[in-house]
Amino acid sequence: MNEYFHSVRLIADRCKGCVICAKRCPMEAIRIRGGKAQITESRCIDCGECIRRCPNHAKTVVTDDLKNLADYRFNIALPAPTLYAQFGITTRIDEILFGLTQLGFDKVFEVARGAEIVSLAIKDYLKRPGIKRPVISSACPAVVRLIQIKFPELIDYLVPIDAPVEVAARVMRAKASREQNLNPEDIGIWFITPCPAKMTSVKQPLGSEKSNITGAIGISRIYGELFKLLQGGLTADTRRHSSWIGVNWAVAGGESSAVGMENMNRLVVHGIHSVSDVLEQIALGRLNGIDYVETLACAGGCIGGPLTVQNRFVAEYNLQQRARKMQQEDIAIGRKPLQEYKESELGVNERRAIEPRPIMRLDEDICKAMYKVEVMEKMLQQLPGLDCGSCGSPTCKALAEDIAQGVASETDCVFKLRERVRDLAQEMKALAEKMPPSLDKDSS
Ligand code: SF4
Ligand code: SF4
Repeated sequence: MNEYFHSVRLIADRCKGCVICAKRCPMEAIRIRGGKAQITESRCIDCGECIRRCPNHAKTVVTDDLKNLADYRFNIALPAPTLYAQFGITTRIDEILFGLTQLGFDKVFEVARGAEIVSLAIKDYLKRPGIKRPVISSACPAVVRLIQIKFPELIDYLVPIDAPVEVAARVMRAKASREQNLNPEDIGIWFITPCPAKMTSVKQPLGSEKSNITGAIGISRIYGELFKLLQGGLTADTRRHSSWIGVNWAVAGGESSAVGMENMNRLVVHGIHSVSDVLEQIALGRLNGIDYVETLACAGGCIGGPLTVQNRFVAEYNLQQRARKMQQEDIAIGRKPLQEYKESELGVNERRAIEPRPIMRLDEDICKAMYKVEVMEKMLQQLPGLDCGSCGSPTCKALAEDIAQGVASETDCVFKLRERVRDLAQEMKALAEKMPPSLDKDSS
């Protein structure tokens, strides 16, 4: 596939070409050209790191809108558990769910419930003999794309189970179609998302031909309206189905606790740069002995997603309190978290292998690639190694690569440019001091 959908976009008018996003991008997918940031589509994983870093709010996310609900006969909201963390514990989950129905959705189904199904399925998967370890979580689509592009050799280590939101969508599409007697295509299923990566995985899924989700609406996009509704006080007649186990998936470490890995060696890593470092260690075979690695692109987990509104530490506090209260409530009424799932909910037959996309190679042609490596190494020796970013490439290494690829020149480096100007000035000075032989009286 040569065309990529990306939900992260640039608002060119706001961009000052300050290089901050280019220097923070974990994929080195951004260059500054003509004073504006340019995203290399084949490298971008829509992790949203550039959105967080841009001081001028020049990066934005394309998501769907409540207006899109009009295109469908029946609309279902799938709120990420991160949505609950945006509100304090005095706002009950039942009220949040009911609030969503007041925004225009006909039905609400919690992604946390999908997370419970997936937790049980991962538990079973980990018991299988012969699977590659450490098993790597596949719940965060930004991490899956990072692996697909930068560490394709780790694809087989990924959990071959859909993310909770896909499972929730599959369950609900089948259920609503049956109950409402509707054609599945007439049902709109909308993920209330904390991140652009989820929006991208709706449009261009990995591991399946087509997503069961119709679209994604950013939490920040509906938060204001929902907040106003909840301030008014709602008589909620919608009931939560999830337990604290699924809700906890919104924070780093929640997934592995939900899977229940008391006797296993697990590693929880969050923040895209840390994830990339740990994946590199796995690829180098340095993390043997670990059974499971929970990987999340955002610091703190999904509560740190770029489309959230609440401070991530406050969100974590909110969620911890909420989970504790849910657990107490459920124990009091004798309700247990989900105990079993159906294979059909996992869509095993719909899954296909994730294709590697190793775009980090310099050229498809091995001879050309070797020549480019040579040019790149030579260039790198000549560059100052300051990684200042003034050239518009994030590091001197990236500039050397851009020069080898023919998309940048040596004089894009301000230091090399200054050297050239100085040499030129000396040459001009030497020339200026030379007299034409007809005027040069001393030369005889
Ligand atoms: S961080 Fe990137 S997008 Fe934002 S102003 Fe700087 S160069 Fe432009
Ligand atoms: S950690 Fe969660 S919010 Fe962040 S990119 Fe991954 S799935 Fe999205």
